[in-house]
Amino acid sequence: MPVRTRFAPSPTGYLHIGGVRTALFNWLFARRHGGAFILRIDDTDVARNVDEALEPILSGLRWLGIDWDEGPGVGGPHAPYFQSQRSERHRAAAAKLVASGHAYRDFARPEELDEERKAAQTAGLPFLYSRRFAAFNEADAARFEAEGRQSVVRLKMPREGSLVIDDAVRGRVEFAWEREQDHVIQRADGSCLYHLASVVDDHDLEISHVIRAEEHLSNTPRQAFIAVSLGYSLPAYAHLPLVAEPGSRTKLSKRKLAQYLKNSDFKQISEHGTRIAERIGLAPEADTFNPVIVDFYREVGYLPWAIDNYLALLGWSYDDKTEFFSREELIAGFTLERINSSPASFDPKKLWAVQDHYMHALPTEEKLALMLPFLIRAKLLADPPPAAAVETVRRVIEASGDRLKVAGDILGYADFFLLDEPVMEEAAVKQRLAKPGVRPLLEQAAERLRLVEPFAPPELEAACKQIVESAGLKIGDLIHPIRVAVTGKTVGPGLYDCLAILGRDQSLRRIERALPLCS
Ligand code: GLU
Repeated sequence: MPVRTRFAPSPTGYLHIGGVRTALFNWLFARRHGGAFILRIDDTDVARNVDEALEPILSGLRWLGIDWDEGPGVGGPHAPYFQSQRSERHRAAAAKLVASGHAYRDFARPEELDEERKAAQTAGLPFLYSRRFAAFNEADAARFEAEGRQSVVRLKMPREGSLVIDDAVRGRVEFAWEREQDHVIQRADGSCLYHLASVVDDHDLEISHVIRAEEHLSNTPRQAFIAVSLGYSLPAYAHLPLVAEPGSRTKLSKRKLAQYLKNSDFKQISEHGTRIAERIGLAPEADTFNPVIVDFYREVGYLPWAIDNYLALLGWSYDDKTEFFSREELIAGFTLERINSSPASFDPKKLWAVQDHYMHALPTEEKLALMLPFLIRAKLLADPPPAAAVETVRRVIEASGDRLKVAGDILGYADFFLLDEPVMEEAAVKQRLAKPGVRPLLEQAAERLRLVEPFAPPELEAACKQIVESAGLKIGDLIHPIRVAVTGKTVGPGLYDCLAILGRDQSLRRIERALPLCS
């Protein structure tokens, strides 16, 4: 049987990190086995605009390189891939289940069910519906209808014995039938509920492996019952461990950002991203600009493969030590057997380290291609940028080395080269310029820099060393003030590189402009 997996998101308006991990595992498994990865949109219960709510999910997956063989935008032999457009199939299945006696029309009123539920509670028993208002034939139905009752369709679940599934992650899992309700599968208005729709769609789409989040494990008995009752064979199941909060076993939630910010690593990632977003003028809203959501990483300029590689390790390992995988290696090495069943805690520090690894390895030209759009968006560069400015950025990237952790970092490292005048940060001026003795030192440096030939890092370094040696100072006493004078801040690429990139005229002009700030 060919391998066919699916990711079945609801159009929620955002792509959760945990959702991506599910998508990624399905994708990896399909690719590994030369199968198909299908994107199905579970939009039956979505009141809002589906296109709008779907867009961040589709673009997030595309950005991550998680491509689908069938689904929205690509079509496929099993179209449509929107659950809401398959409702005729769901209704037909509901009718078939009623006809075969695996489901029944139930005419109970909500208050009658409540009474039973309360009685069970009082007796300390699990609630199991008495089926008092179940219509098992036309005469029953006619009688209830005559009482003005409406009906829903419920599954007639087994009440004895158990279901055993062999979960690829959890192994043998047994569910006692007596704990299962007679779940509703069709509402009074004829619309079908999610669990029925999901089983029918999985069957129609010929899904061979249902690889999904652990929270769906408890849905498996009713879904398996539906499948078997409809004469379908069961897919293989793999329930993935929770993607948990940093340092905890509770599910990672986008709503708990404030709480996560107490974790210093999380806070660092979050604040770093927010600074970049502000520089681009994104005016981030806490609701969507949140490291629990994939958009955050895209906006800030993480590398998509770094995210994929990191997420692959959330609950899966190749051999307990390999951390970095190319796309091909990950596909070749991915197996369901090596998925762990305990919650996988989202570790911002590790994600940062994986990002750092891939950024370090990225050739300058690729960094440039990634970073130019950030500078254009922040209006530091024209669109298209002039060749001379691109060359400046290339030199800044080379000079900055590993200090650029994500593409958006270029904003803080290149801005002062691209602006006519640097923005002088108040704290930097106070710390490095507004001090006795700095002005004469800068004046002396300016004199010396006028003559340095060529105006290149090694010669600039030698000149600065000479100045401090003859004045009996340390190198930091000179380069910190020069840095603030020419860049306006205390961090950036190496100072000699900064001077060389700015060029002699610009460097001298900036030092002169900074002199009045030196007292
Ligand atoms: N639409 C469901 C979800 O978003 C999919 C559940 C499943 O994979 O069976 O959680």
